[in-house]
Amino acid sequence: MKQINLSGWELQVDTEATASYYETSPTDICDCAYCRNFLATIPEHFPKKFLEALEEMGIDPCKPFHISEVYRAKEHDHQYVGNYDFVGTVIRSPREYEPNRNFGLDILGKSPKLNIQFSVIVPWLLDEEP
Ligand SMILES: [Zn+2]
Repeated sequence: MKQINLSGWELQVDTEATASYYETSPTDICDCAYCRNFLATIPEHFPKKFLEALEEMGIDPCKPFHISEVYRAKEHDHQYVGNYDFVGTVIRSPREYEPNRNFGLDILGKSPKLNIQFSVIVPWLLDEEP
């Protein structure tokens, strides 16, 4: 068990169980342009702290359990929503909610199996049109 702060959420995470879950976990990621674009944006366009926390937790950011492109925010920006499962408990939820247009998260589920619901706005990086 490891204590992790994820955007103000204090979590107790079973990092080994989470990492082994991701070795075989099902994912929504497929070969379509929306999914390929999502994967391409992760390294540069996800908040760095969020990626670092996912890595610490044992989560593979390339394997969201669910992912969907919800709308085209601007000509080259797309909003995706998705979730990542993990094993752990919530110690404390954030005191204040800081709205951010480009990124938001919530934690749902029932311990020990929780999931991070996230929403992110990222650019379209592929040469092909969506
Ligand atoms: Zn797809």
